[in-house]
Amino acid sequence: MSTARDQPHAKRRFGQNFLIDTSVIAEIIDCVAARPEDNLIEIGPGSGALTSPLLRGGAQLTAVEIDHDLIASLTTKLGHYPGFKLVQGDALTYDFRPAEPAERKLRIVGNLPYNISSPLLLHLLSYAEFIEDMHLMLQREVALRLAAAPRCADYGRLTIACQSVCTADLLFDVDPGSFQPAPSIVSSLVRLTPKPNVPSASLRDALGRVTQVAFSQRRKMIRHTLGKEFSSEELSGLAIESTLRPEEISVANYLKLAEIWVARRGR
Ligand code: SAM
Repeated sequence: MSTARDQPHAKRRFGQNFLIDTSVIAEIIDCVAARPEDNLIEIGPGSGALTSPLLRGGAQLTAVEIDHDLIASLTTKLGHYPGFKLVQGDALTYDFRPAEPAERKLRIVGNLPYNISSPLLLHLLSYAEFIEDMHLMLQREVALRLAAAPRCADYGRLTIACQSVCTADLLFDVDPGSFQPAPSIVSSLVRLTPKPNVPSASLRDALGRVTQVAFSQRRKMIRHTLGKEFSSEELSGLAIESTLRPEEISVANYLKLAEIWVARRGR
């Protein structure tokens, strides 16, 4: 375990909770199992706790860090690795499409800034077709939402956005004491693996609209929400009872409703 004195001053506005537990770092690196031919992107390298061991495996790694004050020390510490590229920028607006169409798919790694985890996840999911997998440290509460099954309290719009394009696996939990400063919550490492046939952007957009309608009144039967957008024939054609609540409808059925939405509205 490194100590607080080894770490830069943490900035709350950038969600900086630096990993200091060497056994947790080793466990994450084991889960990623980077290969020399990999095209890695790390979101928020901080002071390089994950970056150094990832680079030691010989992969190409582009790190996107928003905090200008960390750039000089990262360059000094890691600039000698031939595969290392550091971008000072905002991961929320970073373009994750490969520069060359035939480039290897990306493997994304990050101990994410928790204050922007949901918008960042949605941004990453919009590039799913270019991504091989993602290993992300998140608040446990968000990780549970990503991996939730229907009929669970955690199942909601984020679950459906995620599971319509990825399989989500909860790998392990991490105690607050593994970070400096310690967050107030437990964290979890999640692996997201994009599915072979990622739905089109227009279908994902429609899915977002359908789930917005469905979950606008989470406790009500969907006849009060989706029932105003879809006919009873359309719902019964998918074996969706109008007495269901939104969390009782599967991701596959939400996708089918989004297909109807696209076909009908052309968007
Ligand atoms: N990877 C390091 C570690 O595990 O010790 C730091 C993780 S810390 C939880 C989150 C990192 O993301 C910080 O370095 C922070 O400056 C950076 N960050 C915050 N917001 C960001 C953004 N929008 N784009 C890129 N990096 C960001």
